Amino acid sequence: MGFLDGKKALIVGVASNRSIAWGVAEAMHAQGAELAFTYQTEKLKSRVDKIAEATGSNLVLECDVEHDEHIDRVFDQLSDAWGRVDIIIHAVGFAPRDQLQGTFAEAVTREGFRIAHDISAYSFAALAKAGRPLMGADSSLLTLSYLGAVRAMPYYNVMGPAKASLEACVRYLAQSLGPDGIRVNGISAGPIKTLAAAGISNFRKMLDHVETRAPLRRTITAREVGDVAAFLCSDLARGVTGEITYVDSGYNILGMAELS
Ligand code: NAD
Repeated sequence: MGFLDGKKALIVGVASNRSIAWGVAEAMHAQGAELAFTYQTEKLKSRVDKIAEATGSNLVLECDVEHDEHIDRVFDQLSDAWGRVDIIIHAVGFAPRDQLQGTFAEAVTREGFRIAHDISAYSFAALAKAGRPLMGADSSLLTLSYLGAVRAMPYYNVMGPAKASLEACVRYLAQSLGPDGIRVNGISAGPIKTLAAAGISNFRKMLDHVETRAPLRRTITAREVGDVAAFLCSDLARGVTGEITYVDSGYNILGMAELS
């Protein structure tokens, strides 16, 4: 018996077995959810196939969130296969590599800003809108954010404003979909070494910084994010919507690092 028994969850954002979305999938599978996955490009398909197989899923669907027709097709396919969706996980983020080097003022361009916001923030609203007809009361959506949404961080640059927009989408979607019983939440995760993180300059130094300063004196794992995601998307969290929950070893609570 798991607390997600009988729930059908769509996981968007698995690229490797280091992906946060994979930690979420593992945790949801352990709690009894039935899973479907998407892959962004043909190149990633075989990897996502293997990961899906490990959770007993053979629903692996193409979805580049830049294309509305891909998003619509995913929900058509889920409508045929499942008839409904209880959980949508959005673990997608992207900015062109040149946007994640130097300072924000140096790096930002109109096109870089547009792409980061389209793929990292609008896509969550797009999935919510397209998935809504398949979602009933007691269903939920969850996205992944980072502290750079609310604090200025070195090298995160345009992803900061994009994550701020994403967190605002969590609140606006929660307000729009709440009357239908659909909950919308976000997790702000601490740094984890994944493919997306590898694009951020000096990422290793960010991990070291968290390890030496966060209250728990360590970084977090994708599975730790997954466990909180499973809880937030379960009926145990039925009274929670519009929230950003931090899973970051407590780093976000700090004002000043210890004086020693
Ligand atoms: P990842 O590289 O494993 O996952 C990023 C995913 O985004 C990949 O699956 C990629 O295919 C997908 N993606 C990018 N552009 C896409 C597009 N156009 N269409 C469809 N999918 C697309 O890295 P991750 O760290 O697991 O990232 C997942 C989420 O977690 C992202 O939103 C990221 O910003 C967020 N996050 C990551 C960290 C971290 O330190 N790794 C911390 C906080 C938040």
